[in-house]
Amino acid sequence: MAMAHPGESQGDLAALAAENEELLTFLYMSPASILRIDAAGNVAMANPKAAQVLMPISRTGSLDNLFAVFEDLAPELRSMAATFAHERGYICENHRIFLPTRKQQEPNVLSCSMLRVAQDCTMVVLTDISKVVAQERSLKQTESWLAAVYSAVNDFAYFSLDATGRIDSWNQSGQRQTGFERQDVEGATLRLFCHPDSDFTARADEQLRLTRESGWHVEELWCVTRDGRRYWGQLLVAALEEIDGKVSGYSVVLRDVTERKLSIDKVKELLTRDHLTGAANRGHFFDVGEAEVVRARRLRQPLSVVMLDADHFKAINDNLGHAAGDHVLKELVACCQGVLRAIDIIARLGGEEFALLLPSTNAHGARATAQRIRQAVEQHAFHFNGVDIRCTVSLGCATMPGAGDTLDDVLAAADKALYRAKAAGRNCVASQD
Ligand code: GH3
Ligand code: MG
Ligand code: MG
Repeated sequence: MAMAHPGESQGDLAALAAENEELLTFLYMSPASILRIDAAGNVAMANPKAAQVLMPISRTGSLDNLFAVFEDLAPELRSMAATFAHERGYICENHRIFLPTRKQQEPNVLSCSMLRVAQDCTMVVLTDISKVVAQERSLKQTESWLAAVYSAVNDFAYFSLDATGRIDSWNQSGQRQTGFERQDVEGATLRLFCHPDSDFTARADEQLRLTRESGWHVEELWCVTRDGRRYWGQLLVAALEEIDGKVSGYSVVLRDVTERKLSIDKVKELLTRDHLTGAANRGHFFDVGEAEVVRARRLRQPLSVVMLDADHFKAINDNLGHAAGDHVLKELVACCQGVLRAIDIIARLGGEEFALLLPSTNAHGARATAQRIRQAVEQHAFHFNGVDIRCTVSLGCATMPGAGDTLDDVLAAADKALYRAKAAGRNCVASQD
């Protein structure tokens, strides 16, 4: 409370006391949380608002020490106060403290200011700024939405086709995206943008038919710019309909989505490939294998599995080192791929053991493929660090139906056959009984 100073009259003192009282009342009634603490954080005064805000946070339920209350949520308050070297001044101003999400009306972000007014007296003001932070967040979101929309608009080519599928309007966006100018595109169809590698050329009419049927259609395909740059394009075509339902033309949005495709392809590869040899991995083999078994059963077609294991592979490692062994494994896979069709799959099941999945292949075909692989490997000159390496493989074939009607059955039969090929002296092919 007010203290008497020399030279102050009784009247002055009374006025001071009244002022002090007013100040205390003000602090008490303040809508902000106000506390007075000492250097160690012990609370000398807390207004009701401070108690209301801090009580739910305090683990012990006591408000004896502010730093203890914030021990988990803002331990930095204690160290900020401890390292503050001045006798007076702001220890921190509007320092943000994030509270765990609780009931909706309760604050979840506090702004904390600590003002040291004397050596053992620090005033603390805590303000609920949850709404401000929420607003800031939504502003940021708006900004990023705008940025996305803006850049997307820049990446689009937007133009239209007449009812027969010929380009009838062209603009800056189309020119920027494709490099073609107005005179290049006049009367051309969507085929103009397709890369020769793309099989879309044949499907261009199909796309317009599908668009007419369902109102819109999306395709992704390899495209090409005027100067020959290949890109993965997403082609969205929407039908423009007259009131009587007749299609009078189409609007087209063409986007370059190469980066997205590359990153999806990369992830796909990581998930499905064996990183050493580039063969499919075990997981992918079983995924595709199960699907092929179902398909073969439905279409009543044969499906073959060939198990392949390198012969005396341990000797290659032992004599020439593990790196030489790794090199042989890579070349082995390349050798097999030279013999296999595009629809066949070679997978590394583990170590130097591989499985081949041959759709629509009967026992005779499987055996022939296995023999060709055996020969190709036997004749292949493996080189590593100037050393010639010889390697042979043993193979076991099994075919469905006959070897059972699940993937596990066929694999087990192929494995048994492989065992027999090993027993028969290696570098040979055996089939299921
Ligand atoms: P067999 O003709 O009976 O198949 O004899 P093997 O020596 O090939 O068979 P075994 O299973 O005894 O040895 C396989 C060897 O393959 C042992 C292991 O060190 C080697 N191996 C497995 N995975 C790898 C690999 O990723 N890299 C290398 N370099 N060697 C591997
Ligand atoms: Mg082996
Ligand atoms: Mg083995």
